[in-house]
Amino acid sequence: MSMNLVVLLYLVASVCFIQALKGLSHPTTARRGNVFGMSGMAIALLTTVALILKLQDAAGTQSNGAGIALVILGLLVGGTLGTIMARRVEMTKMPELVAFMHSMIGLAAVFIAIACVAEPWAFDIVAHGERIPVGNRVELFIGTFVGAITFSGSVIAFGKLSGKYKFRLFQGAPVTFAGQHALNLILAIAMVLFGCWFAATQGWFPYWMMTAIAFVLGVLIIIPIGGADMPVVVSMLNSYSGWAAAGIGFSLNNPMLIIAGSLVGSSGAILSYIMCKAMNRSFFNVILGGFGADPAAAGSGEAKEQRPVRSGSADDAAFMLANADSVIIVPGYGLAVARAQHPLKELTDKLIEKGVQVRYAIHPVAGRMPGHMNVLLAEAEVPYDQVFEMEDINPDFGETDVVLVLGANDVVNPAAKDPSSPIAGMPILDAYKAGQVIVNKRSMASGYAGLDNELFYMPKTMMVFGDAKKVVEDMVKSLEG
Ligand code: NDP
Repeated sequence: MSMNLVVLLYLVASVCFIQALKGLSHPTTARRGNVFGMSGMAIALLTTVALILKLQDAAGTQSNGAGIALVILGLLVGGTLGTIMARRVEMTKMPELVAFMHSMIGLAAVFIAIACVAEPWAFDIVAHGERIPVGNRVELFIGTFVGAITFSGSVIAFGKLSGKYKFRLFQGAPVTFAGQHALNLILAIAMVLFGCWFAATQGWFPYWMMTAIAFVLGVLIIIPIGGADMPVVVSMLNSYSGWAAAGIGFSLNNPMLIIAGSLVGSSGAILSYIMCKAMNRSFFNVILGGFGADPAAAGSGEAKEQRPVRSGSADDAAFMLANADSVIIVPGYGLAVARAQHPLKELTDKLIEKGVQVRYAIHPVAGRMPGHMNVLLAEAEVPYDQVFEMEDINPDFGETDVVLVLGANDVVNPAAKDPSSPIAGMPILDAYKAGQVIVNKRSMASGYAGLDNELFYMPKTMMVFGDAKKVVEDMVKSLEG
């Protein structure tokens, strides 16, 4: 295979990746986007394997074929494990899987950088026995520290998102201590100084020191972030993993890695910006941590208050919905947990048949990953023209007869309007403005940010306790009866 053909195939793969991102920007084109992404990755992988064979050939090292056999073995083992994990993972566990994938990309970047420092000639960076040029050392330094921060930060994010580990650093509540920011700053400066030392000398000591500090920094950057800020962390780590790959692409002189890494890095950065905007927070505010920080409750799910609430049955709720002119449904994380999207679609169809106007309101951080609710509703084939983004539907809550909140909590918490609240300023869906509100959840437990929700105690609110799937199925039965 000629070098021209390699470059051409890499170009085709890059175009596929750009088309993938374009396709993934809307649920209607998401499948097509995935096909482009998979095709691009297949072309990139096969071309890279062919390139390795060509380089081995040129260097006359093809004799035992051990190198390429290892590469193919890695592809098979990694590909099989990835397929099994992706097939088994439940939708609600996707954020943890994504965090796990990010951590693997970060670790891969560190391992590749270590291999480059140890034997740069094996990567065609220099001739055998020569020292690495300063420019490449700087690239290796950047690729290593971004990869190391991505790895350890993603491991902490994995723990926080899964919410099932007892280990304190893996819990949703932010971990803060006196002098935290000063410590981070000192470590960041020390890491850069060791990096400069490595760039000047190519010594192993500064390299290991810089890498170790980067691993520690990854942990320290993520632990103070908790509760409602986790969406930004997920997208930020996504971005870091892309930059780590791009950095290693520069070291390896591989245009494919540079392009793919930059696409992931920049799209992750844009997503972080969108998430910050959705939370009405500045990026630095998030990184400095503490939002939604009610450490006593965050992530614990325990309600702090024992005030009386008005509760009703699924039949009562169905009656109210059927007698309304307009209904807005607010889906949240609980809908995903209960997998109630299919009965919900049935409920909507029944209400529309009865002449009720039904619309869905989607908060940008509802669920546990960007676009989580859109994916669920698309899976149940809810028509896209029934689904509205927060800024488009918020002005309509005041004129809506009934709002049905299904497994959502933080995204409808009016505490965000209170300047003294830990989530002050976060935009919410204005469900509290509707004529009547029906809230379905299993208990009075708090949402992900660990805060009480005043909406549940309002006189116009009726709580319907129970698993969302069961409650919605009962509502459908009630409408049929
Ligand atoms: P929340 O986590 O605030 O609330 C979900 C509610 O669903 C809980 O109060 C829970 O109450 C209820 N619930 C759980 N299981 C069921 C069930 N089977 N049936 C009925 N109800 C159930 O979810 P929201 O979607 O309102 O908000 C998302 C939160 O997650 C925000 O704080 C956001 O910042 C954060 N986040 C979002 C990410 C993203 O990218 N979208 C990523 C990481 C975090 P109960 O236990 O009483 O049933």
